[in-house]
Amino acid sequence: MTTPEISRASFDSVMAPVYAPSAMVPVRALGSRVWDEHGKEYIDLTSGIAVTALGHAHPELVDVLTKQATQLWHAGNIFTNYPVLRLATRLTEATFADLAFFANSGAEANEAALKLARRVAHDRFGPAAKNKIVAFTQSFHGRTLFTVSAGGQPKYSEGFGSLPGDIVHLPFNNVEAALDEIDADTCAVIVEPVQGEGGVIPASCEFLQFLRSACTTHDALLIFDEVQTGIGRTGALFAYMSFGVTPDILTAAKALGNGFPIGAMLTTADIGKHFSVGTHGSTHGGNPLAAAVADRVVEMVNTAHVLEGVRDRSASMFASLRSINSRTGMFRELRGSGLLIGAELSDSYRGRSKEIMTAALDEGVMLLNAGPHVLRFAPALNIPYECIDEAFDRLETALHRLKGAKASAPTPVESQ
Ligand SMILES: *Cc1c(COP(=O)(O)O)cnc(C)c1O
Repeated sequence: MTTPEISRASFDSVMAPVYAPSAMVPVRALGSRVWDEHGKEYIDLTSGIAVTALGHAHPELVDVLTKQATQLWHAGNIFTNYPVLRLATRLTEATFADLAFFANSGAEANEAALKLARRVAHDRFGPAAKNKIVAFTQSFHGRTLFTVSAGGQPKYSEGFGSLPGDIVHLPFNNVEAALDEIDADTCAVIVEPVQGEGGVIPASCEFLQFLRSACTTHDALLIFDEVQTGIGRTGALFAYMSFGVTPDILTAAKALGNGFPIGAMLTTADIGKHFSVGTHGSTHGGNPLAAAVADRVVEMVNTAHVLEGVRDRSASMFASLRSINSRTGMFRELRGSGLLIGAELSDSYRGRSKEIMTAALDEGVMLLNAGPHVLRFAPALNIPYECIDEAFDRLETALHRLKGAKASAPTPVESQ
């Protein structure tokens, strides 16, 4: 076998073309800074899509991971392991939940949540009596066939054959629409407390409270997809805590392993017991390596210091964005919660989020978008303040450069 030349160009010949990664290839990272193969340095305002919440290569996490690697990597779920028991104990003590199920991704955590909800309805009310799942347009719940069907963006589920049925999509933040649709046939309502991929749109407190009471009235389960909002992202360990609305099932993933893949579904004993032995599972789910890292991540994030730090940094980022906007006029709205911030582009820049990301990258800032019209900021929760300032200086340079350049045609958005 010949050794192929490895570069970004290799991507198109050896990788299934579901992504269109940028030309820059990161090779090393520390904290909130990343370097490419040429030694160019970038400030990371993406944390790998809200994943590396404690920054890259955090020494304590490197230590936990490497120690666990010398002890036990994997034994499978025919045995249990101490890291997973510690993690489940920590998560259930810190939340409304009594029981945890572990998977490897957000999609799998949501798949488990939706399957469990159907199972609970089946056990309590009989087969097919209560199958309806209520979800919301523009929501994102993952890429398995069930979760992509629950997600509210038809373009992600089109062309994949017959989809799981009995799922309805309602407009987000609309109590009126939900009032008619959440009824005796409903087994679950799945919602993101802040829609992430859909444009960084926070739910209103009133909306979530309404969903809670409608679910209670109609014996439906309320599922909060906190895959993006969980683990400190909004300034609380989980967003439900700051909304004061408690779900029946909660899912987490992205930041849970700080880059080591793991997903979790949390629920009460009364609900969780319907997943009896053999009804669901995962080979790698709750693997000791992932669980050891996640246990330390939750321990480190769930402190007043880190969570207050998120709220402080959030205020500072909103202030910087407002001030950039006063000079560039590029944003029509700034919104979000904690360190999940969306900047919706003003009319003359609509559709150009991808172009702005590329311009920012040239200046040394890694940014995300949430659709073609919204820039998304999701830095590490512990990003140093001087990194924030430097990143916004660089971003402003990029924006002024873009403003100076002739407007180009809008680029179609790439999804994650
Ligand atoms: C990213 C995301 C998912 C999917 O997580 P994967 O780990 O990519 O499967 C599900 N829900 C929300 C809200 C997300 O942001």
